[in-house]
Amino acid sequence: MAKYGHEQIHFVQHKGTGLKGIVAIHDTTLGPALGGCRMRPYESEAEALFDVLRLSKGMTYKCGVVDVDNGGGKAVLIGDPNFDKSPELFRMFGRFVEGLGGRFYTGTDMGTTPQDFVHAQRESKRFVGLPLEYGGSGNTAVPTALGVFEGIKATAQWLWGSHDLYGKRFAVQGVGKVGALVVQHLVEAGGAVYLTDVDRSQLEVVAATIPKEQLLGTVAPEDIYALDVDVFVPCALGAILHEETISRLRCAAVVGSANNQLLDMEKHGALLAMRGILYAPDYLVNAGGLIQVADELQGYVPERVLAKTRGIYEMLLQVYGLAAEQGIPTWLAADRLVEARIERVRDVKSVRL
Ligand code: NAD
Repeated sequence: MAKYGHEQIHFVQHKGTGLKGIVAIHDTTLGPALGGCRMRPYESEAEALFDVLRLSKGMTYKCGVVDVDNGGGKAVLIGDPNFDKSPELFRMFGRFVEGLGGRFYTGTDMGTTPQDFVHAQRESKRFVGLPLEYGGSGNTAVPTALGVFEGIKATAQWLWGSHDLYGKRFAVQGVGKVGALVVQHLVEAGGAVYLTDVDRSQLEVVAATIPKEQLLGTVAPEDIYALDVDVFVPCALGAILHEETISRLRCAAVVGSANNQLLDMEKHGALLAMRGILYAPDYLVNAGGLIQVADELQGYVPERVLAKTRGIYEMLLQVYGLAAEQGIPTWLAADRLVEARIERVRDVKSVRL
């Protein structure tokens, strides 16, 4: 806790339902902690603890970079999502979350679905990202894709002096919920795209929606890196940027929705910079979904979510500006901007209401 600066860690266990988990609250300067609840068959409590510490700290930065009134938190449940779930387990989790008295809000992440939290919300109102019929805000891929598109426009503005994407070339990795919508934005803006996906039928469905002259081609998954394009747009898996893939890239920038794209932040961030490839920090450009679920806490207003998500454009330009000015990697520039913002808010909150 001292190393990462956490405020609170809460271990939960309930024999009857088999619930076993950890809630980590990293920093609540900006507001109550917010972060997803992940379920995985962790090998050990130590492994689960390491994951929740790391992810909750990441949420402080993700909330801070897009200026929502939430701090960083995360929950992990130790168990196999395919075998260990039950309505009672999630209700029990809801009771523990309620016990935190509003210091922590959560929703879906890897291994959990909105339906799981339909059970949890019977015991607590501290859940976001519920199905529409339970008052949730619905598909987060819509604002997430808009944020990626704004990030690509800001990157074009920074690199080429105009955010006009007409005639620009993109390689999109993964055309699932977010990737397919990003492709739609790029095509509407006049861009041309190469696409790949391991799911061949999904790839064909998305490719069929694109005018012939704007579809540069569909390629095998391993061939997406070496294409001669302006921007590489990873919207599939994390940890895809490392020595082998970075050496093959022939783009000017990487801007995509995938979480944790750099296998090793410092090492591979530096490698991209050495190759003259601009990297848009993923936790900023993919924050549209977070903006949407955070908005639920204020009474969801779709227009406000889209307006805030468009702010990713300006914030990314600030990140690029600071990185250039201080000669530091873009991910570090984003971290520094967040740390400065948290200090300013801490000062504002020093006056008693
Ligand atoms: P998704 O599962 O709907 O889509 C991912 C797509 O990538 C799938 O079509 C899958 O077949 C494809 N894929 C998997 N491995 C691949 C590979 N090796 N090469 C090419 N394609 C591959 O997921 P999504 O919701 O679209 O999310 C995409 C990424 O964005 C994920 O990393 C996710 O964590 C991140 N993200 C999503 C959201 C959101 O709101 N959905 C928000 C923030 C970040």
